[in-house]
Amino acid sequence: MPELPEVEVIRRALAPRLRGRRIMAVIWGDKGLRAQSPPEKLRAGLTGRRILRLLRRGKYLLMQVEGGDTLLLHLGMTGRLLLGPSPGEKNLPHVHLVFDLDDGSRLLFQDVRRFGQVLLYPPGVTPEPLARVGQEPFCRQVTPAWLQGQARHRRRPVKNFLLDGRVLAGIGNIYAAEILFAAGLHPETPVGELTLGQWEKLLAATRRILRRAIARGGTTVNDYLQPGGGTGLFQVELAVYGRAGEPCSRCGTPIRRVVQAGRSTFFCPRCQPAPPGPLPPDA
Ligand SMILES: [Zn+2]
Repeated sequence: MPELPEVEVIRRALAPRLRGRRIMAVIWGDKGLRAQSPPEKLRAGLTGRRILRLLRRGKYLLMQVEGGDTLLLHLGMTGRLLLGPSPGEKNLPHVHLVFDLDDGSRLLFQDVRRFGQVLLYPPGVTPEPLARVGQEPFCRQVTPAWLQGQARHRRRPVKNFLLDGRVLAGIGNIYAAEILFAAGLHPETPVGELTLGQWEKLLAATRRILRRAIARGGTTVNDYLQPGGGTGLFQVELAVYGRAGEPCSRCGTPIRRVVQAGRSTFFCPRCQPAPPGPLPPDA
């Protein structure tokens, strides 16, 4: 599932190619996505309009068009944005939405599992899903003290806190595990017990890991925009995620896997020691 770095890299790659392009036609496939505006509404709101800019909030892409409408895109589990034309595109499976652009190129939304979202909002209306999106991890308001305030008196595990998109936007299961390893924090540490120094480490690790993934993705993103190109995550070096039983890159201790909130968590029991006292309930 794409996380913040993937969405941001896709945005950076697409933005200059889409900016100023006029949408000539909007074409729909016959199967619906998890959430989508009616085809007539999209056609009426987008056809003939120029694309002004492509923004990102959390894992959402926001395409602003002239006239003030905003198209909200979420890639869900398997969604991809492809920019054509390219050979074989006509027979590409699972394409749910096609924008014909005025330079002859086409923007395609392909989504095998159809958890994606494509919603159009009129001028002046804040897209409703964005109301639940927390702060951007790179935003200046996000400081160690702010994070500590968000976590005060809370017993939930720090990993679940990192995954909560209502606090920090865009961090998913994979990068959460990598961030906690980089910060030397056990994923089940009760979040309210972290010291300011630990929050400093955690925030620095968050930004470092996300920035590195964005930089790495920038070198491979062209593949992602082509049919048949890569899927899912960029080929970032993952230190702990998916490595249960393998030696830790720092200390050689076998990486452990536990399940938290129904999802796999990977950590090094030596580099990320369990906190003293009872572990919090998994919520
Ligand atoms: Zn280790």
